[in-house]
Amino acid sequence: MATPAPAARQALKDANARWPRRKKASDGIMGDARHRKRKSDHNQGNAVDITHDPKSGASGDEIARQALKDSRVTYVIWNKRINSRDGRGWRAYRGANPHTSHCHISIRVSARNDTRHWGWATGAPTPPPPRVPRPPAGLPTRNLKRGSKGVEVRQLQAALVKLGHMTQAQVNTGPGIFGPKTQEALEKFQARHGVPATGFYGPLTRAAFARLGL
Ligand SMILES: [Zn+2]
Repeated sequence: MATPAPAARQALKDANARWPRRKKASDGIMGDARHRKRKSDHNQGNAVDITHDPKSGASGDEIARQALKDSRVTYVIWNKRINSRDGRGWRAYRGANPHTSHCHISIRVSARNDTRHWGWATGAPTPPPPRVPRPPAGLPTRNLKRGSKGVEVRQLQAALVKLGHMTQAQVNTGPGIFGPKTQEALEKFQARHGVPATGFYGPLTRAAFARLGL
């Protein structure tokens, strides 16, 4: 009974540590029914598929690049190409599976128990996005301008996001800090709603927001 190569398990462990939020839908070590019908290194547990999830940082390009530097590897298949580490570089791969959703790495039998870290183990783990708690409902009650900070700025930013003048991603770069993006968004709002576009949040601007039911 074949078992997953410890080197292959290490490859997935290292990927999880480096990219904690990566998707795993196309991960695998042991062959599934389809693999078992043909010759595949997966059937002996000597191959690993790592899901291509560029959003999390776990891109097939990066995984393939690192795998090709590793002497445990016999060949890599990624994105319709195969590289056998024999000096010929990448060649077209014409197998049934184009390998666009994962990078396939075959491990030499003699190296299956070699659990040294893989190339992608090093490097800073991709930090999780900051958790931005929702500000209390309502509009800021004090005046705000560039450089202001605090919960009232978060209320203002929430209102600007709600009206489409700012994206949540922009807010996440400086929640509660009245920076250039917040000013720009506020000026857009003011220009649209008949308030002098000063980038200053005071009673006039507050009234304009309130008229919109915010
Ligand atoms: Zn595979």
